[in-house]
Amino acid sequence: MSTPASPDWASLSAGLRARDGVACQWRVAAAPVGNVRPTDFAWHEEPMPSPGEGEVLLETLYLGLAPVMRMYMQGTGAGGARKLSVGDVIHGRGVARILESRHPDWSAGEIVQGQIGWRTYATSAMTAQEKFFRVTNHDLPYALACGVLGMPGLSAHAGYFACGQPRPGDVTVVSGAAGGVGSMVVQMARIAGASKVIGIAGGPEKSRAVKELGCDEAIDYKSESVPERLAETCPGGIDYYFDNVGGETLSACLDRLAMGARIVLCGSISGYTRTTPFGITNYARLRSVEGRMSGFFVYNHVGRWDEVMTEMAGWIRAGKLKPVQDIALGFERMPEALSRLYEGKNIGVQCCRVRPEPRHQGGS
Ligand code: NAP
Repeated sequence: MSTPASPDWASLSAGLRARDGVACQWRVAAAPVGNVRPTDFAWHEEPMPSPGEGEVLLETLYLGLAPVMRMYMQGTGAGGARKLSVGDVIHGRGVARILESRHPDWSAGEIVQGQIGWRTYATSAMTAQEKFFRVTNHDLPYALACGVLGMPGLSAHAGYFACGQPRPGDVTVVSGAAGGVGSMVVQMARIAGASKVIGIAGGPEKSRAVKELGCDEAIDYKSESVPERLAETCPGGIDYYFDNVGGETLSACLDRLAMGARIVLCGSISGYTRTTPFGITNYARLRSVEGRMSGFFVYNHVGRWDEVMTEMAGWIRAGKLKPVQDIALGFERMPEALSRLYEGKNIGVQCCRVRPEPRHQGGS
């Protein structure tokens, strides 16, 4: 079967409308091959669900989009998530308001973030597996709970600080630098006192964006040679490489490590649509520079949620961390919004606004 050159996302969402009182969902229609296509998604409508004893009824406000979702749709059970089959609602974290509660620990009116799935209304028993957190009112938009003040923010923080152990003066390279996690890590490197920050991203618009976020240099991997530009920009070698993409970029950074360098394996999006995994052949470079390459998984760091979110909110209010979000408008556009990640169209955290931002209700 041939793949259409330009998927027709407009036709997929044409005529669809999420509306109050009807529970709309996006389900897996087919396991994606390569990037996601309109035929991989199925729209489904149901009457409003009602919460059973011990459950809440959620009204979705925002949903986040993440590269791992394509793997969910392929039924891999990536990241410990329940394996999906054709016909299942797609997994996804988001922000919701509790409309009704029959759960002793949660109240109607609370704003929460957690595993909602691609749905406009959902009932939930708020199990530990779904990792729900109250969205603290930091006098900041609730949308940020899909980004800096959500799992992407915790990923950036846990990866950059806990896993990578940055040191002041580090020459730091970040790939996927204009993406959700990368746009935060670039700014954290500045906060942590990196001597130089180099962002790798695709295209001139993203190169400009990463410089505005604080990078001294931007490498456009789509039009420039990454090894040559790393040689120019890091003549003394790389002290810290935060890897969002894997593949050739990881290999090029391994070749330019300084003594005692650290590499953080956050993601490898360049490999997510490859049929044959990329083979790293130069990992032995770590030996000669006495370097370290380590990975992390964000869900192993949720125990530090409150501490990290408070720190991130403080940085936002102090103007040290600028949230960058790419917000698609309308639940109908979720599939297209997901495709943007693999096509490199998003700048910052890709998310989708399902309903207008509610008024803050005061409180903590
Ligand atoms: P993201 O960086 O916003 O992902 C989309 C971006 O990836 C695109 O805009 C594109 O930017 C880049 N990209 C797409 N295809 C690429 C390719 N073939 N080669 C190189 N770059 C490509 O996504 P995110 O949510 O912030 O996540 C970043 C990475 O971290 C992902 O790999 C994700 O799976 C991973 N992650 C890991 C954890 C964890 O627990 N370890 C947690 C969260 C996320 P360009 O236009 O610049 O190419």
